[in-house]
Amino acid sequence: MPALKAIPLGGLGEIGLNMMVYETEKDIIIVDCGIMFPEDYMLGIDMVIPDIRYLYDPEKKEKIRGIVLTHGHEDHIGAIPYILRELNIPIFGTPFTLGILEEKLKEYDLPFRASLFTVKTGSSITLGDFEIEFIRVAHSIIDGASLAIKTPLGVVIHTGDFKFDQSLDKDLATDINRLAHYGDNGVLALFSDSTNIEKEGFTISELDIKNEFRTIFSEHPGRIIIALFASNIYRISELFSLAGEFNKKVMFSGRSLMTYTRVARKLGYLNIPDDMLVDEESIDYYRPEELLILTTGTQGEAMSALSRISVNDHKYIKIKHDDLVLLSSKFIPGNEKAISKIINNLYRRGAEVYYESISEIHVSGHGSKEELKLMINITKPKYFIPVHGEVKHLYQHKKLAVSAGISPSNSFAIENGDTLEFTEDRECIIGEKVYSGRIFVDGKGIGDVLTHTIKERAHLSENGMIVVMLVVDSKTSSIISGPEIVSKGFVFEDYFKELSGALHRLVMDVIEKNLTQESVDWVKVKDDIRRSLKKYLNKKIDRRPFIFPMITEI
Ligand SMILES: [Zn+2]
Ligand SMILES: [Zn+2]
Repeated sequence: MPALKAIPLGGLGEIGLNMMVYETEKDIIIVDCGIMFPEDYMLGIDMVIPDIRYLYDPEKKEKIRGIVLTHGHEDHIGAIPYILRELNIPIFGTPFTLGILEEKLKEYDLPFRASLFTVKTGSSITLGDFEIEFIRVAHSIIDGASLAIKTPLGVVIHTGDFKFDQSLDKDLATDINRLAHYGDNGVLALFSDSTNIEKEGFTISELDIKNEFRTIFSEHPGRIIIALFASNIYRISELFSLAGEFNKKVMFSGRSLMTYTRVARKLGYLNIPDDMLVDEESIDYYRPEELLILTTGTQGEAMSALSRISVNDHKYIKIKHDDLVLLSSKFIPGNEKAISKIINNLYRRGAEVYYESISEIHVSGHGSKEELKLMINITKPKYFIPVHGEVKHLYQHKKLAVSAGISPSNSFAIENGDTLEFTEDRECIIGEKVYSGRIFVDGKGIGDVLTHTIKERAHLSENGMIVVMLVVDSKTSSIISGPEIVSKGFVFEDYFKELSGALHRLVMDVIEKNLTQESVDWVKVKDDIRRSLKKYLNKKIDRRPFIFPMITEI
């Protein structure tokens, strides 16, 4: 066995699923453990997690000392509940990262209490052969860390997601001194975030965004509604300070906002005076200009607060003329249509809407090209390995490293499952390929996940798929058209005709049952349809196709 191995099990060749294994003769540590949200072609899939069968080998299992987390984004912590079911491993992270993880774990019914250990940035832990220092970095979530991992062969810097936002306060900005300290003493290898390699220059500061918001606030006397990512505590805190400047109260709408801000307040990362917060129920006691509403749903998610607001289906927030809605977010590719629909509906109800292409009200959490170069120049690694990116990003980042002086033979654009082997005399080669892959998770309940719903991609092609289409009136909750049921690669067409009568009846049963309630929860209807058809087909013909209910509200 070489003295040190680095094995990416996710995140190299894709955005999401970040997971890296560092391994010596005696010990293994895992850095991050993320999910990816399903892409369009993964119909009926709720979530994608990395396949970690490499770690199931009893010999490997024995060696695992812990999962070390860089920060609390889903693409770094989202798969932990699933992995913990298989491997009960201690987890190490900064206070906010673990605070968020703890909330997440509550939603899953784990058979044991997860062992979480808090590590503040600036301090270190020792896990077997590895001594790991958490170095503070700026990112779009607070309390992010780069890891300086001391191995028997030398120091490995694993950057996590980062940018160098130099306008931030000292206690939030990237700790350049610590990175330089390691650079001066010799870094064996740098594993660096590649997300924004295609962006020239430096990523602009969060402070510029705040100034843009200030201008907008001063030009718009009416009510302002801002949709943003709930995890962006820094931006939320800046918006509170602006609300104070403009004598506005702040109202949250959206469960994830409540959760993230509650954790941040509890841990002292967000200071909000109680008298600035307004409950949704008391919205009518305030004049429009007295309110700043913060909400979620920037990606057009169907059940989000913003989506409900846009179709006048929100219990408390009704769009008025002179409302200004700001989408302080990036349009994640694939979501453009859903987001446009919301923007169109908001205009239809009389609001003015600002979003990324017409206003500078969002900035990325990842460093641009010059910052990526800076990271290389500060840490001066012998070897360079781009991580966190699609294949094109990894290759471009490798090229950048070479232009910054890293020898081409010491830069490795590797992908998931490739093994980097470092020998005793600090040589590095690409070793044998290990198994890596994706697991698709269908459905929310983790109990289900183990027995029925974790299925590999092959399952879809083997078992086919059934789509249930339904158009409903969002105001009256009545059916406008459907349910229409179609199948793909499932059973022969003639046979499906025989089955479809029964399937149709089952779908109608589910709908009728749910329609009796006052407000219809369409997510639940979808789950119920899925469950009901699944049960029937399993029993009747012993088949398990993917079932994909599509409910369109108009
Ligand atoms: Zn991140
Ligand atoms: Zn990330």
